[in-house]
Amino acid sequence: MIQAKGMAAMKAKEPLKPYTFERRDAKPHDVVIDIKYCGICHSDIHMARDEWGVSSAFPMVPGHEIAGVVSSVGSAVMKYKVGDLVGVGCLVDSCRECAHCKEQEEQYCIPGNTGTYGAKDRNGSGYTQGGYSNVIVVNEDFVLRIPKSISLDKAAPLLCAGITLYSPLAHWKAGPGKKVGIMGLGGLGHMGVKIAAAMGAEVTVLSHSESKREDAKKLGANNFLLTKNKEVFQENALSFDLIINTVSASELDLGSYFNLLKKDGVMVSVGAPEKPLSIHPFSLIMMRRSYAGSLIGSIKETQEMLDFCAQHNIAPEIEVIAPEQVNVAYERVLKSDVRYRFVIDMAKI
Ligand code: NAP
Ligand code: ZN
Ligand code: ZN
Repeated sequence: MIQAKGMAAMKAKEPLKPYTFERRDAKPHDVVIDIKYCGICHSDIHMARDEWGVSSAFPMVPGHEIAGVVSSVGSAVMKYKVGDLVGVGCLVDSCRECAHCKEQEEQYCIPGNTGTYGAKDRNGSGYTQGGYSNVIVVNEDFVLRIPKSISLDKAAPLLCAGITLYSPLAHWKAGPGKKVGIMGLGGLGHMGVKIAAAMGAEVTVLSHSESKREDAKKLGANNFLLTKNKEVFQENALSFDLIINTVSASELDLGSYFNLLKKDGVMVSVGAPEKPLSIHPFSLIMMRRSYAGSLIGSIKETQEMLDFCAQHNIAPEIEVIAPEQVNVAYERVLKSDVRYRFVIDMAKI
């Protein structure tokens, strides 16, 4: 077994603390990764606090925005070698046999994908542990190649925040002539602005924080709407082809946001709040609008996104922190006070 050091929530809602645990020895198709950086996704907070009621696995080492260097490989690994710069996102395995896995959309694996942490491990009897740690062992099919032009600290958030916005923007065809709204300017939202702008769309940020107005423009948005001003919903009715909702909180009047969509417009929820959101179907019915959801992206699409970001010179805005600052960082994320992703320097563990 490989000894690992990390930061774990010992129980739901408890602050994270240092934790030592074991990783499996490399199997023939496994890659052993020396983790350099791991981003803090709001999903880590939902999971560590068991807000979705799915986290049965404590102690839990969160983290699914992992960037590092290959330190060894199993005997049959063909895709990677020692020294390669690699990433791991939200998935470390899937059934590989169901219709969706065969279509290379393993995030929608029918029996269930294996999440990077807090999931039943298909390689043993325990639960997976994530990237707030110094080492991880992952099957080569779930490892991504990080383009040389993206530094490892900035590559980390692409593995969840980047792909979670790239996938719906690509699926619903954001591009020239399309008006795209990004709801919530946090970790996911700010990547959405950069990626949608690079795809050629006209981008508007819909935010409840006036303090982010200037940043929105610097990130590449054409417009900024402060959603605390109720007039903006009247003034911008029937404006958007596509709105991606990244908001992590449940206090949202979705109906007013639907009214911002054009006829046949689509809102895609990627934000996953603790409590359900309610809608009245009328705001969809009247203009044949659609309300959809989207889960991260596939491994194939994640590689495509990394290469797209390298080609368009896109990287997240990050604040690098030491592992012991993670609990303070969680509090700041909860106050919408992150500009725009915390990344943990795992070499300091
Ligand atoms: P984040 O950095 O905390 O950003 C969320 C943003 O939502 C905030 O910055 C804020 O933006 C807005 N917001 C927060 N509270 C609000 C409130 N009370 N009213 C209105 N707006 C509010 O979080 P994140 O890491 O981007 O993640 C966002 C959500 O996506 C989380 O729920 C996470 O679990 C989920 N997620 C889903 C997937 C997927 O595959 N579907 C993947 C990753 C994460 P403003 O200040 O601009 O309003
Ligand atoms: Zn995430
Ligand atoms: Zn499957």
